[in-house]
Amino acid sequence: MDFTFSDEEEKFREEVREFLRQELPADWDGGAYGEEGAEEVGPRITKKLAERKWLAMAWPKEYGGLGAPHMRQLIYNEEMSYNAAPGGYSMGVAWVGPAVMLYGSEDQKQRFLPGITSGEDVWCTLYSEPEAGSDLAALQTRAVQDGDDFVINGQKIWTSGAQRSDWGWLAARTDPEAPKHKGITTFAVKMDTPGVTVRPLVNMAGQSGFSEVFFENVRIPKDNLVGELNRGWYQVAVALDFERSGIQAYAGGRRTLERLVEFVQEHPDETVRRNPAIRNRLADRAIELAAGTNIAYRIPWMQSKGLIPNYEASISKLYGSEFSQRLALTGVQLLGMYGGLEPESKWAPMKGRLERSYLQAVSSTIAAGTSEVQRGIIATRGLGLPR
Ligand SMILES: Cc1cc2nc3c(=O)[nH]c(=O)nc-3n(C[C@H](O)[C@H](O)[C@H](O)COP(=O)(O)OP(=O)(O)OC[C@H]3O[C@@H](n4cnc5c(N)ncnc54)[C@H](O)[C@@H]3O)c2cc1C
Repeated sequence: MDFTFSDEEEKFREEVREFLRQELPADWDGGAYGEEGAEEVGPRITKKLAERKWLAMAWPKEYGGLGAPHMRQLIYNEEMSYNAAPGGYSMGVAWVGPAVMLYGSEDQKQRFLPGITSGEDVWCTLYSEPEAGSDLAALQTRAVQDGDDFVINGQKIWTSGAQRSDWGWLAARTDPEAPKHKGITTFAVKMDTPGVTVRPLVNMAGQSGFSEVFFENVRIPKDNLVGELNRGWYQVAVALDFERSGIQAYAGGRRTLERLVEFVQEHPDETVRRNPAIRNRLADRAIELAAGTNIAYRIPWMQSKGLIPNYEASISKLYGSEFSQRLALTGVQLLGMYGGLEPESKWAPMKGRLERSYLQAVSSTIAAGTSEVQRGIIATRGLGLPR
């Protein structure tokens, strides 16, 4: 394993940094903390990233990407997350597009891929249901063929970004008699199709990032079935993210840790600056950050060698999400009574960043596969223990 980036990679990193210096407002902190103009920053950056072909840089050139190596994608993700830059990541790029490239018809490639690489079409992922999350293959939403259409009935839940999406990437049951993994099919659904109802859910940080989505006799053309009938489960498993390092948690965490260290260094009270408990906790987080970053770097390194990361990506996801929670807890404790103040409060240190992170980090060990599920993968596929 080579621990250094090449000159070319470092040059690219500087290019991304320069781009972000130009495009992000001064003192930008992610827009989640009440920055002015936050609403327009994401779409503006997405458009500019699309012009540079950075949005889907790892996609093959024939589909609108740059065919960029995995390490380059990692550097891009790392810099975007460190700077809390919006608009650079989409589910369309991460797994919808790759699935369409692998399994879609020529017509579907023409219809779906350009909207993803230009950033004009936003996709959400319609997998989880009230009774099917970790055990996703238990999903019950039905798709029944009727002439040239499929008719969809059922309910999805926790659909991130559904209320802002143009298209939904849907997994639905097409054969209820078959064993559960063998009766699922994937579809592209236009979110404004009659019968689709999106009901936003509010999380404990007061934000509505995800929704419930209801399907009542929703008719979609059979041309929107992507891949093979009843093979959806296997297609979903293969069409994984192009870049699965989990670097985002560590890059965002690095910035938070730097701020906490600054906060202590600049604290007027000498006893805070020299407090051994505070030092120990910050040192622990710094160790975890260094370990986690290397775990994340290993994934694209494996991909660059033609290896397919499996339980390694689970290690990174699990460690990164649990690290985010420990870091946020360290932060709110360190800030004392002020740590729990919301961004709107004029007394909130760091614009309430820690209070937000603390509440948001809770869901990070649930989203995209819970820690228990990740540990199961590591135990069975990584350590070879019986299922
Ligand atoms: C912020 C956020 C965003 C999300 N975005 C999306 C999205 O865009 N699209 C989408 O489809 N879904 C999304 N999800 C849903 C997410 O994928 C599920 O919440 C997750 O897979 C867990 O499923 P569940 O909530 O049904 O919990 P359950 O599967 O019911 O799990 C309940 C508890 O049981 C444990 N458990 C379950 N099975 C096992 C097992 N085999 N071994 C050990 N323990 C187990 C779990 O770890 C958990 O603690 C999102 C979730 C969150 C929190």
